[in-house]
Amino acid sequence: MPAAAKPVFSLEFFPPRTPEAVVRLRAARNEFAKLKPAFCSVTFGAGGSTREGTLATVLEFRDEGFEGVPHLSCIGGSCASIAEVLAKYKSHGIRHVVALRGDLPSGSVDTGDFRYASELVAFIRKETGDHFHIDVAAYPEYHPQARSAQDDLDAFKRKIDAGADSAITQYFYNADAYWHFVDACHAAGIGVPIVPGIMPISSFVKLARFSDACGAEIPRWIRKRFEGYGDDVASIRAFGLDVVTELCDGLLVRGAPGLHFYTLNQASLTTTIWQRLGL
Ligand SMILES: Cc1cc2nc3c(=O)[nH]c(=O)nc-3n(C[C@H](O)[C@H](O)[C@H](O)COP(=O)(O)OP(=O)(O)OC[C@H]3O[C@@H](n4cnc5c(N)ncnc54)[C@H](O)[C@@H]3O)c2cc1C
Repeated sequence: MPAAAKPVFSLEFFPPRTPEAVVRLRAARNEFAKLKPAFCSVTFGAGGSTREGTLATVLEFRDEGFEGVPHLSCIGGSCASIAEVLAKYKSHGIRHVVALRGDLPSGSVDTGDFRYASELVAFIRKETGDHFHIDVAAYPEYHPQARSAQDDLDAFKRKIDAGADSAITQYFYNADAYWHFVDACHAAGIGVPIVPGIMPISSFVKLARFSDACGAEIPRWIRKRFEGYGDDVASIRAFGLDVVTELCDGLLVRGAPGLHFYTLNQASLTTTIWQRLGL
């Protein structure tokens, strides 16, 4: 049997929007440098709204010795505008992207030249061959717009068949959902690494609001415990750290191919979990 690949531990950021946020991200980056992540990815606003910020942030990470990986979302974009972004990434020597559909801002109707991320993956391969390692999104609890679990699995397979190399999941707190999804992927002939996306918990109220919109479920027992803490910030933080560390530990013990942390540009929770896991 071939030896299992070494797990990949990575971090995700968004482009800072104010000069103060730029300074805060720089400080966080100093903390993250100690962790030596495999790569740091930077989100891309749908419709290209953060296009320059994404690249600038990736390049700043690179200047500090990290591997910077830009996301690229296609909704609202044209073939020409996406080709331009790819050419720019390539000209900076970038070789890894996270390819996404993105979400249209409410009210807008013009989807542009791409309807789904699978079309973006196919386009990247057509334009740039094997230049990029392409990551795509996966949804263990299924994407909120999917008509059925099977439809969503089929959609995920289309992205892999179009040329994606690996996937990062939406965050989840129920490890069974992840393993069921991985089993279903294997049964469907999908063999790429599916790396769990991990969301540390800083504010339960914000997390609950966000989770409803993006199709991630917070199990009832976790919700109830958080609700019981009210405004007790220290208990929320301590319980959130325990829940997420335990989740990560269990995933790694069972053989997950790595972990991708949604840092929200903050160092404290992710570094604490990382250190507790001994990564
Ligand atoms: C790891 C990760 C990183 C992310 N980074 C960003 C980012 O940087 N910028 C950003 O804007 N958003 C980002 N998102 C959010 C993402 O853009 C949204 O979740 C979006 O709603 C779906 O994007 P997707 O790439 O998964 O789309 P797709 O894979 O295209 O799927 C979208 C929906 O369409 C359905 N579908 C797909 N193909 C078909 C088909 N042929 N026929 C019918 N239905 C189909 C799917 O089942 C699903 O319901 C990220 C999400 C994750 C998990």
